Amino acid sequence: MMLPVRPELAGLHPYGAPQLDVPVRLNTNENPYPPPQAVVEEIAEAARAAAAGLNRYPDRDFAALRADLAGYLATESGVHLDPAGIWAANASNEVMLHVLQAFGGPGRTVLSFAPTYSMYPEYARDTFTTWVAGRRGEDFSVDPDHAAQLIDEVRPSVVLLASPNNPTGTALPLTTTRAVLDAAAQVPGGCVVVVDEAYAEFRRPGTPSATALLAGHRHLAVVRTMSKAFALAGARVGYLAAAPELVDTLRLVRLPYHLSSVTQAVARAALAHTAELMAQVGALRDERDRWVGALRARGLQVPDSDANFVLVGVFDDAHMVWQGLLDRGVLVRDAGPAGWLRVSVGTAQEMAAFGAALDEVVEQ
Ligand SMILES: *Cc1c(COP(=O)(O)O)cnc(C)c1O
Repeated sequence: MMLPVRPELAGLHPYGAPQLDVPVRLNTNENPYPPPQAVVEEIAEAARAAAAGLNRYPDRDFAALRADLAGYLATESGVHLDPAGIWAANASNEVMLHVLQAFGGPGRTVLSFAPTYSMYPEYARDTFTTWVAGRRGEDFSVDPDHAAQLIDEVRPSVVLLASPNNPTGTALPLTTTRAVLDAAAQVPGGCVVVVDEAYAEFRRPGTPSATALLAGHRHLAVVRTMSKAFALAGARVGYLAAAPELVDTLRLVRLPYHLSSVTQAVARAALAHTAELMAQVGALRDERDRWVGALRARGLQVPDSDANFVLVGVFDDAHMVWQGLLDRGVLVRDAGPAGWLRVSVGTAQEMAAFGAALDEVVEQ
């Protein structure tokens, strides 16, 4: 019997980094520190309370969670947003899929700049939106003139920009984001600019967040997640901040009650303990900066990183290095540009194990 698989899906493999059971896992940019025990208890208590009402559907507009997220962004980025301008879903991947469902579609184009997050073309495919990727420079930055010109040429209805970018760690200066927003504002029919700030909390001092531009730009959406800095990847909570009209459009495409009562309760309990959950972010930033230096001192190239990972190269055979590390119990990511490997910043012990394994592999 033949299944009527859509032709564009035929022969494809599902997305995902290998989930291998090895001692040192530095391949999916998770926070290596689990939530502290006291916060685990609070989260469990919140889930328990939610369980008592599981016969009812959840608040489909998750008003309380939206208010908490707006409160968090006020503290973290100093922006004061109406909770009606906050949207959340089962992690930021679903948030961005909602954006493509609402603003992409057949006959429309989504534009990004490669190398970048490998899920973006999948949102395009799954929403029948044409995918166009401009290029990043040698240093993985986005050239504002190239971006503006491409927007003018391609007339996308959505631009997706990761800042800091995955897999390169490169953040966008506000001048570039502004140039993209200005060019997008000229697209006939309109264009939504998404700045995906999944790693924002790891940015270096002085690196801006696009949340600063929300006030003047009704076509901007800034995406965040609790998966990375909050050490909550398993809870699947992501969100965006934008103008309330933009968010209202996303409400049209979400599935009914997409955010479960348990998820809402867990997210709110976690947000009430932001400080404890993010206590390790500073340590991870320091560890990252130490490894940017240590890898460069070994003669390797590492672009500046504002994220919780580093891209390292250039190897003649990156896959062989990846395999050599894996043979020594260290799993990194081999999905970046040719010759490069992406290494999530782990604990100091994990990074020491990575460094020792790398030295052995490179020496051979
Ligand atoms: C990890 C990551 C995400 C977040 O994924 P979640 O679905 O929120 O877990 C989003 N964008 C980029 C670029 C990422 O690397």
